[in-house]
Amino acid sequence: MKTREKYEFYKPKKIFGQNFLVDDNISQKIIRQLDITDSDLVLEIGPGQGALTKHLAELEERYTAVEIDNAIASGLGIKYGSRINIINQDFLKFDLSQFGKKIKIVGNLPYNIASEILFRLFEFRGKIICAVLMVQKEFAQRLVAKPDSKEYGILSVQTQVFSRPSLLFSVPPTVFFPKPKVESSVIKLCFDNETDLKSISIFKALVRASFGKRRKIIKNSLKEYFEKTNISFDDLDFDFTRRAENVKVEEYVALANRIINLIPDAQ
Ligand code: SAM
Repeated sequence: MKTREKYEFYKPKKIFGQNFLVDDNISQKIIRQLDITDSDLVLEIGPGQGALTKHLAELEERYTAVEIDNAIASGLGIKYGSRINIINQDFLKFDLSQFGKKIKIVGNLPYNIASEILFRLFEFRGKIICAVLMVQKEFAQRLVAKPDSKEYGILSVQTQVFSRPSLLFSVPPTVFFPKPKVESSVIKLCFDNETDLKSISIFKALVRASFGKRRKIIKNSLKEYFEKTNISFDDLDFDFTRRAENVKVEEYVALANRIINLIPDAQ
């Protein structure tokens, strides 16, 4: 039976972003990007009908898949038995700290919750070596965007502080069933970068406030946040006459680190 026909017996669920990969060359290409060694632990987000799982099952207990869809999770359980770990859970609630060592992550992500998944990975970045992910092409471009471009925003700044992202290759809609309306890209995030960020919560609040009024200069965007936290622009040696999209990632980090000294109870 041809791969595409096999999926026609199953009605993919839109609510779970189910667009299954039906081109095995792409599956293998994605997995090669993980550079799996003999001792690596690999976690897959949303294994679906097993397009990637079939190449990872040989890792046996070193492979774990987290799938929200009960029917899919039990189907994979029947197919692979207890050789591999299939966990029927929402990945957004999955605790990555349970692994005894750092893991590699792979996933053809449900595009509707790609940002939430990414923020979850940032939260657990200390437990992750790298993540190879298929996402919507425009989303991928935002992750790697540089200042002074329209794609550069909160997602770019956070991604580039918490990881080292790279855009690997593009994937057309024709390799999925059902075909999505958008182009896709595979990206790799390496979590080996050092950051001297002192307070993640201040950094996040600062970046969020800065991009809140994208078309205004940053002095206007930050006015409310600075008033709320009792910070004066005069206490900071910084050019606030630019727009948020013109401020570099390392400048946001430096500004957040200076702000922390001005907020008495900040941690
Ligand atoms: N990996 C498969 C492939 O490449 O064909 C499936 C990819 S499909 C785009 C996304 C998968 O993620 C689906 O199997 C879907 O059920 C699952 N999924 C959606 N939301 C999820 C969540 N919150 N936690 C875990 N899995 C999820």
